[in-house]
Amino acid sequence: MSRLFTFLSGFLAFAGCFSFSFVHAIPVSVQTDERTTIIDLKQKYPDRFIFSGPSDEKWVALTFDDAPDPRFTDHILNILLSEGVRATFFVVGERAQNWPQAVLRMQREGHAIGNHTYNHPHLPALSDQAFYEQVEKTQMILERITREKPFLFRPPYGDITESQLRRLIEDGMTIVNWNVDSLDWKTDSAAEIYQNIFKDVRPGAIVLQHAGSGQGGDLTGTIEALPLVIRELKRKGYRFVTVPELIAAKFIDPALGMVWTDAKR
Ligand SMILES: [Zn+2]
Repeated sequence: MSRLFTFLSGFLAFAGCFSFSFVHAIPVSVQTDERTTIIDLKQKYPDRFIFSGPSDEKWVALTFDDAPDPRFTDHILNILLSEGVRATFFVVGERAQNWPQAVLRMQREGHAIGNHTYNHPHLPALSDQAFYEQVEKTQMILERITREKPFLFRPPYGDITESQLRRLIEDGMTIVNWNVDSLDWKTDSAAEIYQNIFKDVRPGAIVLQHAGSGQGGDLTGTIEALPLVIRELKRKGYRFVTVPELIAAKFIDPALGMVWTDAKR
């Protein structure tokens, strides 16, 4: 059984992100029996390593990784704007440095912005120092652009070690994976992306899509599918929230009738 979990979590870890051409090769097998698996970590830190939100409201959080990318990100932002949907972008520091206007646009249009490392390495392969540089450098870049310090972090490939996770938690960050993978890193078919999302979507879902890709990557399927996905979710009665709003929902006391406005904590 533990072998099965090891395999599953290894698979989860690599599902969901493009491999960047400018980073080190990604090892084929990273999960070892000695290492705590992603599934173990999810169970051990349920409030700070999140894969979905509360399931009692028909809320969904669309998330877009690997932004900004001049080829694709504006298209995604245009669709979100015309549909009146706010989402969450996990931004790569090096790309933000090269294209700060896109990050400012995300902020201006009400999207949440999280840290997705400086240049998208596979975190478990890094030394403590290299790991922290990836996080801190990106925090500084994003803070310089937006005047706000991000408090959300998404590890590339969804993979992270326990000590890295703990370090982020100590710094007040919430680590965000997903429970619905559009698999848009794997296919450019809008129909497949649509099906992948609707196969798994449920109240409280965090949906993984991309707004940037590696060299030669193609997100035309994501862009084509997005308006259809949004309209169908609306038709099914879903409300679109950012990840901070989804997290904040956990702290609402229905007895007090309180309505969240901001999830920063
Ligand atoms: Zn990524």
